Amino acid sequence: MNIPLVDLKAQLATIRDDVFQAMAEVVENTAFIKGRFAQAFESAFADFLGAKHCVGVGNGTDALVVALKALGLQPDDEVVVPAMTFIATGEAVTAAGGRVAFADIAPDTRCIDPAGVRAAITPKTKGIIAVHLYGHPADMRALRAIADEHGLWILEDCAQAHAAHIDERAIGTMGEMAAFSFFPGKNLGAYGDAGGIVTNDDELARKATMWANHGRIGKYDHEFEGYNSRLDGLQAAVLSVKLPHLRGWTESRRAVAAQYSAKLAPLQDKGLLTIPQDHEGHVYHLFVVQTDRRDELLAALKEAGIGAGVHYPTAMHTMPAYAYLGHVAQDFPVADKLAHTCLSLPVYPELSEEQIEYIVAHVSNFFA
Ligand SMILES: *Cc1c(COP(=O)(O)O)cnc(C)c1O
Repeated sequence: MNIPLVDLKAQLATIRDDVFQAMAEVVENTAFIKGRFAQAFESAFADFLGAKHCVGVGNGTDALVVALKALGLQPDDEVVVPAMTFIATGEAVTAAGGRVAFADIAPDTRCIDPAGVRAAITPKTKGIIAVHLYGHPADMRALRAIADEHGLWILEDCAQAHAAHIDERAIGTMGEMAAFSFFPGKNLGAYGDAGGIVTNDDELARKATMWANHGRIGKYDHEFEGYNSRLDGLQAAVLSVKLPHLRGWTESRRAVAAQYSAKLAPLQDKGLLTIPQDHEGHVYHLFVVQTDRRDELLAALKEAGIGAGVHYPTAMHTMPAYAYLGHVAQDFPVADKLAHTCLSLPVYPELSEEQIEYIVAHVSNFFA
């Protein structure tokens, strides 16, 4: 059996007619950049989250950069970033002119550890980027307490956490700003690059809108030098077709994760495999197990046609890209350990019971 890590064709089959009709409408209307299709998605997505504003941009990395610019990041300002995330989180800080300061992650949530944030704060620290890694909500209550105590802002990196929540509050509404990626493989994905910035603050929304569009609101009234990163109509139309399905898809992801967790529990009891901690607001962008025999298990699954992945093989502080910070692996031991032990099993809404059985059987046989 061949099971990919993500199967976008299986999803397309369920929405095909709506997608092609929506795309045709954009082309007929020649509403390619921003325009009414982009606006319709921005307001639908803000409503979905219970947020006041969504500003569409070109991709998730730009969403982070533009949000940091809107928050007023200045050269040499420091931003605390988890040592385990996709590089875009750190890159955005540097691209916006600031300096990256890493913090370790917590072993249970695998998101930024509030104690690590405290340890990373200096007089130059201006904010924290909370990444809801793999779809598990970061500990926003503890982070908010630290931010308030030190006068810092929080930017949520929600690239892996569409529809995630803590109690009744949506992820993306608990920081001063939030950045979403709609990269095709994310839980809500376009058919190309797309991103969005979410905030409840009118002024931050206005600044982000201007930063992402040459420092202007009207056609040629440039108040400052900005940037060009805009949501295009075709991507917005695809996202508008998909958004009404997001809750159902999220439930399906959680059901897949529940099956994996139940079936793999005996391996965890034997100390062979660590299953991700559940949280009612976890949206399982990835289902990431941990084992000391990661590379061997990965090879065994590949052999069986199972598209397992590694997210991510290197913690940020040990990447060549951040060698200039002078860290050693043990500076952030939880992040480093995760990088060496993590393995992502396929998880998507259309994954069948038969496919799950097949994957679980191969994982169990590997340890037998
Ligand atoms: C995907 C991702 C991004 C970047 O999104 P793009 O749309 O690919 O630029 C940022 N942060 C995290 C955690 C991501 O997973």
